[in-house]
Amino acid sequence: MEYRISPKSGDKISLLGFGAMRLKSDKGNIDLDLASEQLKYAIDNGVNYIDTAYLYGNGSGSNEKALGEIIENLNYRDKIYISTKMNRMVIRSRKDMEVMFNNQLDNLRTSYIDYYFLHNIISYEDVTYLIDLGLLDFIEDKKTRGQIVNMGFSFHGSFDDFQKILDLYDWDMTLLQYNYLDSNIQAGIEGIKLANSRDMAVIIMEPLKGGLLAGSMPDEVQELIDNSGSSRSNVDLALSWIFDTEEITCVLSGMNSLDMIKENIDIVSNHVGNPLNAEEVELIKEIREVLLHLNKISCTSCNYCMPCPRDINIPDIFKLYNDKYLFPENRTFGVNHTFITYVGNILGFTGKAHDASLCVDCGLCTSKCPQQLDIPKLIRQVDKDYHGKFVRPFIPLLKKIMKYVL
Ligand code: SF4
Ligand code: SF4
Repeated sequence: MEYRISPKSGDKISLLGFGAMRLKSDKGNIDLDLASEQLKYAIDNGVNYIDTAYLYGNGSGSNEKALGEIIENLNYRDKIYISTKMNRMVIRSRKDMEVMFNNQLDNLRTSYIDYYFLHNIISYEDVTYLIDLGLLDFIEDKKTRGQIVNMGFSFHGSFDDFQKILDLYDWDMTLLQYNYLDSNIQAGIEGIKLANSRDMAVIIMEPLKGGLLAGSMPDEVQELIDNSGSSRSNVDLALSWIFDTEEITCVLSGMNSLDMIKENIDIVSNHVGNPLNAEEVELIKEIREVLLHLNKISCTSCNYCMPCPRDINIPDIFKLYNDKYLFPENRTFGVNHTFITYVGNILGFTGKAHDASLCVDCGLCTSKCPQQLDIPKLIRQVDKDYHGKFVRPFIPLLKKIMKYVL
């Protein structure tokens, strides 16, 4: 395992961090035995930074609770740095901060948080709003008591706002979205360098763009990889591209299978003395161009926008839509597979609500999206694209028929 130093605390942090957000769950309940096996393997093999948030799971600490139970049962608290986040979107007073923080300590069965973040900061005003409520006093109090060791914020806004937020407090670290597709959006590489120049630890999220850079690639991309002579896997290319930025302290990977954990640990272990070569850097540039063109909606399947009052599964719909353009060759009798799945979902074959036409434009989802997607507008676009003027008139009739059939 490669370790990098968190500048202010001097902590030796594993370059690969364990993102617990995507732990496997059934109807919101995390499979504790499975998650425990996975965390144990990762920690025994050198991973020492574990990331969760109050928002993950059911939106009120269920992911933290599962993690707290697992860490306590393994007796691994002293082996790891715990990172969690204040759900700033529901904070309305200084007292709310206190209540949430104490809940988080209880959830995680610990007396202190190593790395505590304000979650999903999108603008300068998101932070000044919290400061007006007493944030700086809250931080001072918790740091004095030793309950917060390092304080920072996770960020999805513009570089200009990022720069202004850095002047509001002497932050210990930041959590930024960065991968080879998203190198120039949000704070981007400029933000990484700026934070590093201020002695902040830089933690990276979404290194694989919600899995897009890890799985099967479109034919056009696969051809580039096959012809490149590189022996690295898609995950290796994506992670190594980030590891090669020395200003980065830790890269969170949302791992939820033992195979995935082993693969990621192997990649980070082999990375020392094995950076990408010039041809591989060029290859990534070419892949990037193709993917930016084919991937229509920049959704990372984080689920923050859920639940939708109309029971629309927003990330699933966006993934289906993206797959239509990423994998146009996947067809049966000339019909794209995603179209078949989409219509099947609407008609109730899968029991999933995937009908974009159900959107009533309430806007509840939009403010929660870290990618700042105009979700209702995109949902309308998907609806138009899939239903089209020829299919749409038949949907109500088909739905009625299916009610009798099912
Ligand atoms: S705007 Fe549409 S997709 Fe978003 S929450 Fe409202 S109904 Fe659901
Ligand atoms: S639409 Fe936005 S909030 Fe919803 S899953 Fe995608 S990225 Fe996350």
